[in-house]
Amino acid sequence: MLTVVMYHHINSDDLPLSNSDQMMEEHLKLISERFTTLFPGDTSASSGICLTFDDAYYDFYHYVFPLLKKYNLKALLAVPSAFIISNTALPAKQRLSLKHHEIYNGDNYKIYAPFCTYDELREMVKSGHVMIASHSMNHLNLSEDWVDLECEILGSKIALEENLGFGVDSFVLPYGKYNDEVVRLAREHYSYVFRIGNAINPSWDGIGGLIYRINGDALKSPDELFKPLKQLGFWGKTVVKMIKG
Ligand SMILES: [Zn+2]
Repeated sequence: MLTVVMYHHINSDDLPLSNSDQMMEEHLKLISERFTTLFPGDTSASSGICLTFDDAYYDFYHYVFPLLKKYNLKALLAVPSAFIISNTALPAKQRLSLKHHEIYNGDNYKIYAPFCTYDELREMVKSGHVMIASHSMNHLNLSEDWVDLECEILGSKIALEENLGFGVDSFVLPYGKYNDEVVRLAREHYSYVFRIGNAINPSWDGIGGLIYRINGDALKSPDELFKPLKQLGFWGKTVVKMIKG
């Protein structure tokens, strides 16, 4: 069985979508002691776990990337390609200064560089600790009728591959929202398609073609996700999803 964990921010004002840097360090240290971290498609040992971080905020590069190196861990970073600039000379303090709700406003992604840059994405991939997934182009709810799915699903893959210089084989559904057409297109262009749902997966094939993730944001303790009662909840949901098909 395959556990995939979803995280977003570090030290953000948006508490349900964030962990403190201290909590994240203790949590990742514990993971390094108990599990083997996997990239999509890696052969899953019983102790295998896949860590995924959504939205490629600069706080990932600033806080998490050093921890991945320190504890020798791997993580998948889901990138909304429209918000990624080539590089920046802005100091970290300024890049980390926006409130969560300001990050997607207007030109703030250019003015404050609150997302990882392409230079940083390439550096992280080269380190061997990070793999990149597409998280669509504009981070939209893909189940809305007016959304250009070709652009969001295939266009984002092309943009990332051109700018990074390597293939992108994973797609993370923004907001976990989708319909049949979204899943069909995503599965056509990517080998691994991730959603949310707090369930465990039998394999990298996921359940019904989608790989489920458990929520690793707003942890109350470093081992919260691995406590028996939490695990029971995830397994319960897994059984329900598998029966529903
Ligand atoms: Zn997202």
